[in-house]
Amino acid sequence: VEHGQIIHNCLVLKTDCCPSIYTSRKNIEFVFAPELKQIHEDRMFCDTDIKNVYMPKLSAISGTYCFDQTKLMKLDFPSLKTIDGRVFGMNNFERVNLPSLLTMTNVNQFFGCSKLKYFEAVNLQLIGSNCFGQCVSLKVVNAPKAQIGSSAFFQCKKLEVLVARDNDFYCNCKVCPKCKRMLEKCFLNGKLFTEMGIHGKIRIKCISIQKEELKKFLEKQQNLVLVGELLKKFAELEKFVLKFCQVDVYE
Ligand SMILES: [Zn+2]
Repeated sequence: VEHGQIIHNCLVLKTDCCPSIYTSRKNIEFVFAPELKQIHEDRMFCDTDIKNVYMPKLSAISGTYCFDQTKLMKLDFPSLKTIDGRVFGMNNFERVNLPSLLTMTNVNQFFGCSKLKYFEAVNLQLIGSNCFGQCVSLKVVNAPKAQIGSSAFFQCKKLEVLVARDNDFYCNCKVCPKCKRMLEKCFLNGKLFTEMGIHGKIRIKCISIQKEELKKFLEKQQNLVLVGELLKKFAELEKFVLKFCQVDVYE
């Protein structure tokens, strides 16, 4: 197999850097690039039918619109540390986890990913400006080390859970939690989300067992107001866990 060859809709790239551009090519569904480390070309895979890639060493994408408007259903980039500009705009994936991502430069990195529900990048330092602009389904953002760039959640009207380093950013979209003065609630949900951890499904079971035991114990107690309050708290917690586990974010 030669470098650049396409076999059964799979593009094979053998080098650590590649200057070719495959914009709008409809005969590529997979890219096998085991040595690829950097992408500098703008629009390299823009507007293609690419569904999946194997790029375990890819650490930097500086080409804008590189993976814009593809058919990627998940982002499997375990080594990706930096992205520059609108790299993953207008895609249909629902979940993103970029464990190595450290920096986003420029703007619009995930612009218009209208199905994106869940974003996680635990090492990210900065969420770029307008990063999630018009990501209208975005519900959970887990980036505990990240500062937030201006208008990062522009028109993200469904954002409910936010784990990030600060809440000081500009926005005037009028519909995001920041504009609706609901950001504190998002951070509070974020705190619960972090405490819940990735074992949310196990927690549901634990909470219901705890609740039953607590109920039995409390039934024997005198203070009925306290009993009611505690049961209410448990019910809220259970509702929260159920809600965010059903997003299917842990699969
Ligand atoms: Zn806003």
